[in-house]
Amino acid sequence: MRVDVLVVGAGPAGSTLSLLLARAGLDVLMVDSKKAIGKRSCSGILGMRCLKELPVNADPFVISEIRKGIFRSPGGIEIRVEGDIARVVDRVLLDRESVDASLAEGARILMGHRFVGIDDGKAIVKGESGSRSISFKYLVGADGVYSKVREVLNLRAQEPYIGVQVTSREGISLDDGFIVKIMRGSRFLWIYPWGDKCRVGALGRRTDPVIEWVQRAMPCFEEKIVAAIPSAPLRRFQRGNIALVGDASGQVKPLSRGGVYLGVKGAKFLANSIVKSYEMDLPYIESSYERKWWSTFGFEIKAGLALRRALDDMSPKELDSLFNSLKNFEGKISFDIDYQVISTLKSVKIWDILRTSFMAPKFILKYLGALIAHLLLYS
Ligand SMILES: Cc1cc2nc3c(=O)[nH]c(=O)nc-3n(C[C@H](O)[C@H](O)[C@H](O)COP(=O)(O)OP(=O)(O)OC[C@H]3O[C@@H](n4cnc5c(N)ncnc54)[C@H](O)[C@@H]3O)c2cc1C
Repeated sequence: MRVDVLVVGAGPAGSTLSLLLARAGLDVLMVDSKKAIGKRSCSGILGMRCLKELPVNADPFVISEIRKGIFRSPGGIEIRVEGDIARVVDRVLLDRESVDASLAEGARILMGHRFVGIDDGKAIVKGESGSRSISFKYLVGADGVYSKVREVLNLRAQEPYIGVQVTSREGISLDDGFIVKIMRGSRFLWIYPWGDKCRVGALGRRTDPVIEWVQRAMPCFEEKIVAAIPSAPLRRFQRGNIALVGDASGQVKPLSRGGVYLGVKGAKFLANSIVKSYEMDLPYIESSYERKWWSTFGFEIKAGLALRRALDDMSPKELDSLFNSLKNFEGKISFDIDYQVISTLKSVKIWDILRTSFMAPKFILKYLGALIAHLLLYS
């Protein structure tokens, strides 16, 4: 079998990419190791920008709306934000719709087939009925946090985080709000509405008692899901005729680590790059993809990762006193869940930032040090 583009993984990044490539007239094949489409290990909290970028209308899959957020420090100091923050979407149904839309544009899919590597320039995929080899002009790894295509490229990702999620057994009203509770450094748990029930998710390092955090917040729950979440973007997403997109390349938000928005945007940039390369009959994928992604998200990623490093270095008491200083900003922040750092910085005045710098000098010094380190790391 020979295809123009072989896309490994049919999550939001892979299906968005496949849809756009098929629409442009390329012969696209998706392969996915699962037998059925749809991700259960996702809270489905998608910001308004993200919803607009999705290749399909997510309205039919919206479970709840989020119009306020409460951020709580380890000692219980709260900062509230309000606005049309996000929708909670059923990821299983959304992923299926997105794959169906790409098939309707002419892409094809091979389910229950795992990409295992490349042999003699051809991709090897294994299913229950045996192995197949597939020739391709371009290969894309949209195969998630433990990407096999990333291994082929010999690119190393930082150790992932662990995400745990449970659903309440009984109905609980959160009144259109969600709560984010800092547990340790930059690791946190989130409580959000799921129809008339609620869900609790938590994110931490392998060594953190993540499951215990969730069980403490929600002692009676229906089901527990544990999955990995990428730590940070790779510096490079492409080499020769192979590229990575979505979680496979670590395209996640630096603070919340949500990956749908950045992965779908990545898929759009990559689709343009592949179509250009195809039209010019290039044997490699031209580099506008990587440049466009970094010029769009670079500042948010570097400033956010620096903030994460500074938070990770702080004790619970220091975090409480930082929250106390940030109380000055309550009511002034117009929080955008898709650009968490830039939106917060943009909505405060320089005078307020200077005042906070005097009130929390240790934090500001740590932050500036971490920012310089990340600017250098990703330069
Ligand atoms: C608990 C939890 C909560 C989360 N909540 C949110 C949230 O609220 N908002 C948000 O934006 N993000 C959230 N995320 C992250 C989000 O789920 C991911 O960032 C997103 O799914 C990434 O999309 P993707 O298409 O890159 O990869 P995935 O959705 O992971 O899809 C990858 C696909 O590749 C397939 N695959 C893997 N390996 C192979 C292989 N070798 N061969 C063939 N197929 C393969 C898999 O079966 C899968 O279908 C959460 C994650 C977790 C764990």
